[in-house]
Amino acid sequence: MSDRSRTIIRNGIVFTGSGIVDPAAVVIRDRVIDAVIPGEPAAHPGGGDRVIDAGGRLVTPGWINAHTHIYSALARGIGLKDPPPANFVQILERIWWRLDRALDLDAIALSARLHALESLRAGVTTLFDHHASQRAVRGSLGALTRSLTEIGIRHSLCFEVSDRDGPDAAREGIEENVAFLSGLLSNSGGRDLARGLFGLHAAFTLSDATLARCAVHARALGAGFHVHVAEDAADTFRVVDRLIRAGILGERTICVHGVHLDRDDLGRLAATGSWLVHCPESNMNNAVGAARLDAAERASVRLALGTDGFTADLTREALVAHLLHNHTNGKPGQSGLIPSLLFHQNAALASEFFGLSLGVLRAGAAADVVLWDYRPPTPLTTANFWGHVLFGVVSARARDVWIDGRPVLDSGRIPGMDEEDLLARCRSAAERIWERF
Ligand SMILES: [Zn+2]
Repeated sequence: MSDRSRTIIRNGIVFTGSGIVDPAAVVIRDRVIDAVIPGEPAAHPGGGDRVIDAGGRLVTPGWINAHTHIYSALARGIGLKDPPPANFVQILERIWWRLDRALDLDAIALSARLHALESLRAGVTTLFDHHASQRAVRGSLGALTRSLTEIGIRHSLCFEVSDRDGPDAAREGIEENVAFLSGLLSNSGGRDLARGLFGLHAAFTLSDATLARCAVHARALGAGFHVHVAEDAADTFRVVDRLIRAGILGERTICVHGVHLDRDDLGRLAATGSWLVHCPESNMNNAVGAARLDAAERASVRLALGTDGFTADLTREALVAHLLHNHTNGKPGQSGLIPSLLFHQNAALASEFFGLSLGVLRAGAAADVVLWDYRPPTPLTTANFWGHVLFGVVSARARDVWIDGRPVLDSGRIPGMDEEDLLARCRSAAERIWERF
């Protein structure tokens, strides 16, 4: 928005991040939340306000997806060329490592646009991507950030460095992280939607020498890491100790999965201040097990929630996290842990990494706001909001979304995007990628 007028979303049921205000108006001025006003806001004396009537619908802060893989967007429906995988390493070898070697920069840019569209419709306004394209390394993060910035979605990017395709691919991966992170440092101000981390695939595909090189570069750039940890038993051999020794873990590092970490591992991970992102849909699909969330919480690990590219829909991921947590605990009760991931922990993670107040609606916070096509059929209060999320919001779509004060989804559509054209180009790119796969 170039003008200084306000956008007022009136007549909404507003979840601020900590409670429900009903009815209420959310007032956006420039790039931030000006106020959440109970009842009806007074019109600006000078006029010129842009007023949106929420019609009694739900308004929330944008959700944050703490771990996703945009590069998997064109894999939907892909046919395998090998016998079906029987374990986690075969899933990587027969699907994901074949796919990432088939990608080109055009397919990566299209994947970003498709994943951004699906994320916005799911109320996700910030995503932390973990990218791999081992035959199209150079320029891949640039292709991603251009597409995501054009649509206007907040993003943190990194390239998954790995030794699995030999030293040249590993070196290029390091260079791509360094180039992207250096670009962010020299462009601060111009690209405020973008942040970066230093990406690592997982310790079991990285040599000590490569880990050491990554640590040197990341330290020089002041960057933390984004790395898969103990997703499967194949990645458990002293993995936390190894990452600590290599200087990878710390408050600026996002670890993902942690399915096979025991109590001691979780304690050592917690002591480093690293984040651990839970991705239950992907874990269940790959049959790698269920993360010990209660043990992680008792060890004071900083937990968050991500989709691992399985979906763009974080509300659905939260529902599945809730179901898996109940199922593995053998208890139907609501522990409060899963809603705290969706409402608070992911917001804290994103606020830390972006240096902005994200995931909350209060004066001064970034204006990342979602108006859901959800009108509750039963009373909705602060006390029962999680119940509405599980049984209602999960089936709703975002109608309108603002990020950084700009409208990025308008009645379910991205302004200026020819969606038919995007889908046609995605299908054609998918055919090309699947042929190479
Ligand atoms: Zn992942």
